Amino acid sequence: MLPFLDDFYGNPSSIHSIGRKVRAFLDDSRERVADVWKCKASEVVFTSGATESINLAICGTARVLKPYGRHIITSAVEHHAVLRSVEYLVNNEGFEKTILPVDVDGRVDPLDLENAIQDNTILVSIMAANNETGTIQPIAELGAVCHRLRVCFHTDAVQWFGKEPFDNIHQFNADLVSICGHKFYGPKGSGALFIRSPLLPDPILFGGSHENERRAGTENMAAVAGFVLALESFVSSPVFDRCLLEPLTKRLSSLCSLSGVNLVCPLAKRLANTCSMTVPGIDSVTLLASLDLNGICASAGSACSAGSLNPSHVLSSLGMSSNEANSLVRFSVGRETTEDEIEQVLALFPATLDQIRRD
Ligand code: PLP
Repeated sequence: MLPFLDDFYGNPSSIHSIGRKVRAFLDDSRERVADVWKCKASEVVFTSGATESINLAICGTARVLKPYGRHIITSAVEHHAVLRSVEYLVNNEGFEKTILPVDVDGRVDPLDLENAIQDNTILVSIMAANNETGTIQPIAELGAVCHRLRVCFHTDAVQWFGKEPFDNIHQFNADLVSICGHKFYGPKGSGALFIRSPLLPDPILFGGSHENERRAGTENMAAVAGFVLALESFVSSPVFDRCLLEPLTKRLSSLCSLSGVNLVCPLAKRLANTCSMTVPGIDSVTLLASLDLNGICASAGSACSAGSLNPSHVLSSLGMSSNEANSLVRFSVGRETTEDEIEQVLALFPATLDQIRRD
């Protein structure tokens, strides 16, 4: 990334020699992403991260397809980047929505999706894996339903990349796939959107003709460089190696033997690095603050909603009461997490709970 903040600071749209060198790198970066994804380079759009990819995928596609219908389907457990994009279209642009329910583990039933598709359905958006529970969706099956019924399918695959085996972008049976770099050790503020040709969503940013007219604005070359390298290094062979991480999250799951602690989503159906539990009666913010004082960095709902005292919409969709949905604690392990660290959590967690219950 550093050369693009120093010697190669040029703008890839400039025609001088440094600009041309940077343009060559940008073109090459797109080819490298296409090589990993096994798609055409023209189907890759660099973005500032998943929120932008998702907004472009949903708003841009809905707007371009509205002559064919105004019905959009999504699920109750999506990230707010999806839910609020859909909500915006419904509240301001005359679209209708169906929000699909999920089972107790947070999975969408492909039959429910099939039954929800109407003649005027133009877009379905369902995430590949959930950020709060780690639940993995039967995404290829859901995509196949859309394919068969000729409805455009978007998946927010942010949490999935770098964690589950990736062969090619077509394995999701999706027309649009959103990802960001910082979920697999790339830089924050980097991302991409796969857009299957010939789909051409309406732009959501207006200005120059960058990214083949799909995303105006001077490219963040350092972010592109970091994103591409992380994608090449950490996705085809997932950096969050299930063989290494599953024993750690399994061990963490043993916290559920403590009285009043419940595991969310059994291991077989979830990402190997995520272990979520609820402790009804104790709110997440208090629990996370106490863990933090003991040197343990954990999360609750999505980091974007951190600090909010609202119950997690994801857990509410699993049928939990607001008391329980408000008590989520999520541990995420990574390539640097050690067995010793897990043992420290196991040792400190019961005392932390006791302390909170006493106070
Ligand atoms: N979708 C999911 C499932 C996420 O977990 C996140 C962020 O953590 C996003 C979308 C938004 O990504 P970003 O903050 O990089 O825009």
